[in-house]
Amino acid sequence: MPAPADPLPVAGTTAAPAPKPLAADGRPSLIGLDLASLTEVIGALQVVPERQAALRARQLFHWLYHRGACDFASMSTLPKPLRQALDDGWSVARPDIATAQTAADGTRKWLLRFADGQEVETVFIPEDDRGALCISTQVGCTLTCSFCHTGTMPLVRNLGVGEITAQLLVARDALGEWPTAKEGRLFTNIVVMGMGEPLFNYDNIAGALRLAMDETGLAISRRRITLSTSGVVPRIAQCGRELEVGLAVSLHAVRDELRDELVPLNRKWNIAELLEACRQYPARRPITFEYVMLHGVNDSDADARELVRLLAGLSAKVNLIPFNPWPGAPYACSSNNRIRAFAAIVEAAGYASPVRTPRGRDILAACGQLKTASERQRRQRVAA
Ligand code: SAH
Ligand code: SF4
Repeated sequence: MPAPADPLPVAGTTAAPAPKPLAADGRPSLIGLDLASLTEVIGALQVVPERQAALRARQLFHWLYHRGACDFASMSTLPKPLRQALDDGWSVARPDIATAQTAADGTRKWLLRFADGQEVETVFIPEDDRGALCISTQVGCTLTCSFCHTGTMPLVRNLGVGEITAQLLVARDALGEWPTAKEGRLFTNIVVMGMGEPLFNYDNIAGALRLAMDETGLAISRRRITLSTSGVVPRIAQCGRELEVGLAVSLHAVRDELRDELVPLNRKWNIAELLEACRQYPARRPITFEYVMLHGVNDSDADARELVRLLAGLSAKVNLIPFNPWPGAPYACSSNNRIRAFAAIVEAAGYASPVRTPRGRDILAACGQLKTASERQRRQRVAA
């Protein structure tokens, strides 16, 4: 078994990794490259005059992230020799879609398979006037939160910028939303709440979100992006400073003893340190505190009152998440009455406390249920 991904790579000391293939065709992928890298790629091909490289790179960027081109032949504004040279050495193919499912409530889930055979899931959650794409940042997760299915996957690796960006492109492809429309889109928001801990893969998620936010590309405003972390305290400030996206924090417990058990990362950065990082986060919008409702574990009135005490002075909202069961999970979900009573205490203190409606449970697409089907099958075979 490969070693788990380094949980906290040191910022700024690693050179950008070489682009790698996304699809089975074996050519390195342009997906995930930013304008500067595309300019370098074009320059190195030496088929257009050097002074044209920047212009051609902007056009290529537009084809990739605004028009969603899936092949070089359709990139009609690029000179033919350049298209040919790009096609000889590079690919814009998407990763294989191993399965695509639609739930009774319209939630869609794609299982993407990358060139090395590793897989992740991406989920689209439509709502009345918007839709959020829930993206993954790692294959599995090095953390082992006791209520989360993803945390039970034994094989873990970080996704590259291209592999994260490809999730956005696959959703736009499937929803038929190229070229990037300004109005009336289905896919309007991004939530970084899929498989993995995004702040353990900071550079790659940051690169993908910069492409997502680029007005000349995918054009999803930072106001419509929310990143969820289980509490990688040193990276929270960096995320606020550099990306300015909305922050969601998986709190789930109000005492360190219990949080150590539910979210083991708490042993490294405890509740007080986590909340201090939240207090420093740029207050463009309230921080969302996620709180999974576990029957008899963290759902008492006393827990709710302590939660209110902890949040004092913070611009916050509390998202109560009914526990989503998975085979073999050691918890049950709190009753509706208990969730309502908990929410009432939080709301009485002035914090919005919506209860998250589980979406796509029938296709195992809800929070904490993501774990790739092949992984499930592999384990079932071992258990048999
Ligand atoms: N790793 C990041 C983001 C992915 S998890 C994080 O932990 O924040 C997205 C959210 O789903 C987190 O709040 C997580 O705690 C929650 N979650 C995990 N398993 C769950 C389950 N079985 N039921 C409900 N929510 C769950
Ligand atoms: Fe990882 Fe988040 Fe699941 Fe915890 S809840 S195991 S951090 S994906």
